[in-house]
Amino acid sequence: MPDGSLTSFMAARAEEIVSACTSCGACVEACPVVPHAGISDAEPGAVAGGVLQVLRDGGRLDGPAAAWAHQCNGCGACIPACPEGVNPRNMVMLAAGKSAETHSDTPQLFRKMARAIRLMAAMQLAPADLARLLQPPKPRSVPVVFYVGCNAVRTPHLLFNAMYVLDAIEVDYEVLGGPAACCGIIHTKWEGETEAGGRVTDGTLKRFGDFQPERVLSWCPSCQLHIGETVEGYGEAAFAFEHVTGYLVEHEERLRGLYTTEVPMRVLLHAHEGMADLGENVARLLGDVPGLEIAGIAWESGYTCGGSGQDRSPGLKAERRKATYAMAEDKQVDALVSLYHGCHAQLSAGAETQGPPVVNFTDFLVRALGGEPREDLLSGWRMAGDWQALADRSMPSLEWNGVSVDSEWLASLLPDMLASREFAGGLDELARPR
Ligand code: SF4
Ligand code: SF4
Repeated sequence: MPDGSLTSFMAARAEEIVSACTSCGACVEACPVVPHAGISDAEPGAVAGGVLQVLRDGGRLDGPAAAWAHQCNGCGACIPACPEGVNPRNMVMLAAGKSAETHSDTPQLFRKMARAIRLMAAMQLAPADLARLLQPPKPRSVPVVFYVGCNAVRTPHLLFNAMYVLDAIEVDYEVLGGPAACCGIIHTKWEGETEAGGRVTDGTLKRFGDFQPERVLSWCPSCQLHIGETVEGYGEAAFAFEHVTGYLVEHEERLRGLYTTEVPMRVLLHAHEGMADLGENVARLLGDVPGLEIAGIAWESGYTCGGSGQDRSPGLKAERRKATYAMAEDKQVDALVSLYHGCHAQLSAGAETQGPPVVNFTDFLVRALGGEPREDLLSGWRMAGDWQALADRSMPSLEWNGVSVDSEWLASLLPDMLASREFAGGLDELARPR
């Protein structure tokens, strides 16, 4: 009997999929990760059937179905392939969450992630800026909530750049973000804690509602996938949930009129097939920046970089990344443009050894508006590579933000924190009580 909880909502969604899916295997045939997951010889219908069985009966994914779901990077190539109108990406996501109820490879992920985010943000931000991203503001009636999610707070310069643009077009908005306003994907999909995930999602939807917004503009593609697709329709939202890039495209004319400064560069945009509309939004926004020449779009697989996206299928990722760098070289670009925080962090790390410099799209918008983009401290830190020196240098900022840690302890964790290793089961130290 549905009781309005996320658990019963997801059970009903699973039931719908179980009744509609015929195990025809067309989604598996269309899926680009299959050759990289070692299941090319498996019968496609049986692979899909294995996923369906977990959705129907519970238990742990195993065999080729587990290999498929484990490497699913959210690219969405399966969606148009289904003749029954099922969203197979959604089917795999729900089955992964169900399987994690029996066994999670990343227990306590939320705890580790939340601590890593708070530490990294406190190292980079002054207290007022930190509070703006992590502390919910006092509710007031406002047309727009800018929902930055959790992990983007690790790369705060992108978010402040985005706010600079929202301020320029005079949007009345409030910011919600940080682990206290998580979308719930970590508990639900990664930890298999559906009930806890439901409480987290409920709490965040309620926080949105407290502002009586017409629109909630998300930044994070994982929040977009979770709230906008996996649990779409859950809760009675009186607001639209959409990506901030779409909102900026709507205000394209206004932005164009505000641009004062040429940005004479030739760039290659990095985007993901799993959220192609967002990549196209950014291409359009960059197309308006005076002086900026877009040499092309390097489409990669998945819906984002990182542990919940393209990294899940390392073989496919290596192929696509190689093609991106080859394209950058062939087109002789000055910079590779990142879209999301996960892409920015990963591509910036890669730029130390290959490829052109990485600049986030928000930098170009701020520059065109005559502003100075926020400094990308994280990339600078990575380049420096001296973790102890960085930890020592961060102590005043951490203390200023009321965070007390030992600098050697911090230095030992920095390489894994900057690489978000908790998504690969690492950073156990952050799960320990302190
Ligand atoms: S979303 Fe992409 S990786 Fe996942 S099952 Fe569909 S096609 Fe395969
Ligand atoms: S989800 Fe669609 S394409 Fe995939 S097996 Fe079921 S019916 Fe076929």
